[in-house]
Amino acid sequence: MSSALPATIEGSAALSAGDPSTTATERTRAAVSAGDPSIPRMMRTVRTIAALREALLPARHSGRTIGLVPTMGSLHEGHLSLVAAARVACDVVVVSLFVNPRQFDDAADLAAYPRDEARDEGLAAGGGADLVFAPDAAELYPAGFATTVGVRGVAEPLEGAHRSAAHFDGVATVVTKLLNAAGPDLAYFGAKDAQQVAVVRRLVADLAIPVRIETVPTAREPDGLALSSRNARLAPDDRARAPALHAGLTAAQAAVDEGEREPAAVAAAGRAAMAGLDVEPEYLELVDPATFAPVAALHGEVLAVVAATVGGVRLIDNRTLTLDGRSS
Ligand code: AMP
Repeated sequence: MSSALPATIEGSAALSAGDPSTTATERTRAAVSAGDPSIPRMMRTVRTIAALREALLPARHSGRTIGLVPTMGSLHEGHLSLVAAARVACDVVVVSLFVNPRQFDDAADLAAYPRDEARDEGLAAGGGADLVFAPDAAELYPAGFATTVGVRGVAEPLEGAHRSAAHFDGVATVVTKLLNAAGPDLAYFGAKDAQQVAVVRRLVADLAIPVRIETVPTAREPDGLALSSRNARLAPDDRARAPALHAGLTAAQAAVDEGEREPAAVAAAGRAAMAGLDVEPEYLELVDPATFAPVAALHGEVLAVVAATVGGVRLIDNRTLTLDGRSS
């Protein structure tokens, strides 16, 4: 995928607002590039909540819209599609980079999570971000931190059950903190993590957080594999099998297109397609996209969700099924 990354990484990384070596011409060029994500913009990195709020104060006071893209770094084109969506809709785009220890079930997975802040800053700038928020763990979870935001219901099945309850508690806690820190008008999340989106929508509604949650479609490799920071860990043989998740979802839609209306049979068609590629799903189920409860019948919006571990790398994917041949 690296060939498709913006060619402006090096130059944009140098255009830091705090860098006295930037010339007036560079600053002007950055300022006029506001609508064009192919041109690097002035971008600053802040590390504290106080600095983030201070940096956003002028925009907030002048009524400009602020968009937040929460990420754990290791940016790829999926993340950049969120930044691009925010760039189009918002006056100020903030990208957060924080590998959130509280949402990892496994210490080894946390330790292995790729980190390269300089690269991420360059990609964020090239993608159109105005501000990167890159706190350390002590900034978000200072000594004495004792609060957990726990969403029940939608957070409990599937990812909540197969990973651990602590996973979505960690997600809900950090998202709440990031939303409180940045106070964005809009926040952007990827459809790839569909249950995460449902959890975030639930907590935002329940806690009356004044933000609009936007969902951006899943960015994929040409063979259908959903982009993920974890894909880099796939050995070549496993990378060849990894499109099985997408194939399973495609087969589920094909079964619907052929007239199958029994959810269990549709899911079975998906599992069979995966087995053909030698991948056994942890789950492949048809659920209500708002509650993640299993559907008893195929009508309205139905989400097919799948998780599988391929060569030791846990992957997830999903697809909206439709009954009239149009699916997403
Ligand atoms: P992460 O850094 O994995 O926590 O992801 C940060 C955000 O990017 C989340 O909202 C993800 O859902 C989103 N994201 C990750 N992969 C993709 C993808 N392939 N397409 C679209 N969004 C994605």
